[in-house]
Amino acid sequence: MYDLYFERDKKRGISKTFMWLVEEVGELSRAINKIDINKDFSNISEEFADVFAWLCSLANIIGIDLQESSIKKYNQVCPKCKNKPCSCEFK
Ligand SMILES: [Zn+2]
Repeated sequence: MYDLYFERDKKRGISKTFMWLVEEVGELSRAINKIDINKDFSNISEEFADVFAWLCSLANIIGIDLQESSIKKYNQVCPKCKNKPCSCEFK
């Protein structure tokens, strides 16, 4: 994502990129609400990809290594209960 879009993302800026992320989350939400377990999920997988792409773009602009920070926080065990699998109270 960095190599593909960083220069464009940097020009767009944090606020507009965040708005695109929220827009894509909205599209994912609408796709999930229409989900039919008997149909294929190719469309919804694209919506997941779009949300992830915009999240990566936002992280790149801010200078966060999403992979590194995710691994650091969620490496092997739940960051709250420290168990694998998580044994936190279900909410
Ligand atoms: Zn937990």
